[in-house]
Amino acid sequence: MAESLTQKDLLDLFVCELTEFVIVLADPQGTFISWNPGVQEQFGYSAEEFIGQPLDVLIPVPDRLRGDARLELKTAAATGRCSDTRWLVKKGGQRIFVEGITVGLRDKAGELAGFGKVLRDISERKSTDENLRALARALDQSIVIVRQFDGTVEHWTTGCEKFYGYSPHDAVGQICHVLLKTKFPAPLEDIQQRLLKFGSWSGELEHRRKDGTTVFVSTHWLLLTDSEDEPVSVVETQTDITGRLMIQEELENVNERLKSMAFELERSNEELEEFARIASHDLSAPITSARWLVDLLATRHQEKLDADALKIVKQIGQGLARMADLVEGILAHARVGKGAISSLQTANSEEALVAAMANLSREIETSGATIKNGRLPNVQMQPQALSQLFQNLLSNAIKYRRADTSPQIEVSAESDGTKVLFRMRDNGSGIEPEWLERIFQPLQRRSSPDIAGSGLGLATCRKIVGRVGGKIWAESEVGRGSTFLFTLPAPPETETGHRYAAAQEREPDAQ
Ligand code: ADP
Repeated sequence: MAESLTQKDLLDLFVCELTEFVIVLADPQGTFISWNPGVQEQFGYSAEEFIGQPLDVLIPVPDRLRGDARLELKTAAATGRCSDTRWLVKKGGQRIFVEGITVGLRDKAGELAGFGKVLRDISERKSTDENLRALARALDQSIVIVRQFDGTVEHWTTGCEKFYGYSPHDAVGQICHVLLKTKFPAPLEDIQQRLLKFGSWSGELEHRRKDGTTVFVSTHWLLLTDSEDEPVSVVETQTDITGRLMIQEELENVNERLKSMAFELERSNEELEEFARIASHDLSAPITSARWLVDLLATRHQEKLDADALKIVKQIGQGLARMADLVEGILAHARVGKGAISSLQTANSEEALVAAMANLSREIETSGATIKNGRLPNVQMQPQALSQLFQNLLSNAIKYRRADTSPQIEVSAESDGTKVLFRMRDNGSGIEPEWLERIFQPLQRRSSPDIAGSGLGLATCRKIVGRVGGKIWAESEVGRGSTFLFTLPAPPETETGHRYAAAQEREPDAQ
């Protein structure tokens, strides 16, 4: 059976149990004389440490110096009570945010007998409140509209005011789609249907500001519903994408302009090539007949001409020969047109080299040239174009030989599976470093005019290689010879590389 307790005993028990509250008594000077276990639990002081301490012990030093404790007691003594929410310090110096009340206690005669103080830790609530306030501040700076389902604005943030120019006074109560002259990416009814079905909708909108300018936003609509699932309001969060769209638009414009310029350039290039092709073709016939007539003059009417006249006829013949070379060069260069090289065809490189050598058989024979080659992998291009490439390079290697040496030419190639690198090495005159790049430009001749040529052979080679996405360049040592290197696309056939690797091993036999 429970022992019988007095009312005071019960009150003491109640105070001791209430450890989530700190309940203390102080004498009229503010010295602690009694405490409940809440003091130990929340401030870390034991009874011995706490009793006899002044109220100051719980107050942070700066507030203590300001006399906060005295003021609190004075107010409680004068008015009967003093409530406060404030920072206090625990035994270890850690801060705790409390809400509390100090009560002045008087005896029957009305004399101040002491103080009672009750405190409660509200640090957690304070931090939640602070977080909420920070969130509200951040939201207020964002472009957020809280509105009813029909668009009637309920809340208009500072961010909205800055962005659209309308104050909350202008906007609240207005239909926001009307106010902002919204242009939707789809009919509003469809968007609202989706919002009701999925609870949210995202898209891009065009809005008109108060000053009449147009802005673009990426928007997210969130539907808030009540407990019966009825729509209550819509929260619209906008992100300004005007700058992004303008840059995008500008880029699209530039792109369009570039495309039409490229088209124009290609068209005028094609026209130019066509013109060169027709002009050189039409020039060939009169040049051929003029050469024939000059030949006739020099042979049939030789006796009627004196030595001077014969010399002039010979010079005319040479001039006509150079002109024929040039016309032939222009024609060959112009023929390397857009459609001339189909990269869908596969060329057998060895066959293309043989064809080139056959076309140059006279030059090879008269110069005593030897031409060696290893196994050459197939490439992806038109065979005739590859043959022309070999022919131009071989013809140069023979033409620009050293006076005392017969031409020795070696052709080799290696494939990495996607492209084939060819090398054509000769033992000719060599090329000075400053000419290594220039020789690929049209009409750039570094040799004497006595050697026949148009100055277009290497330019044509570069055009052919360029058409299939390859590169051509030269390395040379003056007096020892030159190497012309070029890359061409390998056919889309995985075994090409393997086949060539095997061929490399057999190369000595091939020579
Ligand atoms: P062309 O042979 O008609 O002059 P090319 O465009 O074929 O025109 O060559 C340009 C110049 O490059 C030539 O005039 C010649 O001086 C130089 N060249 C080309 N190939 C060689 C080579 N294998 N060895 C030395 N010089 C060369």
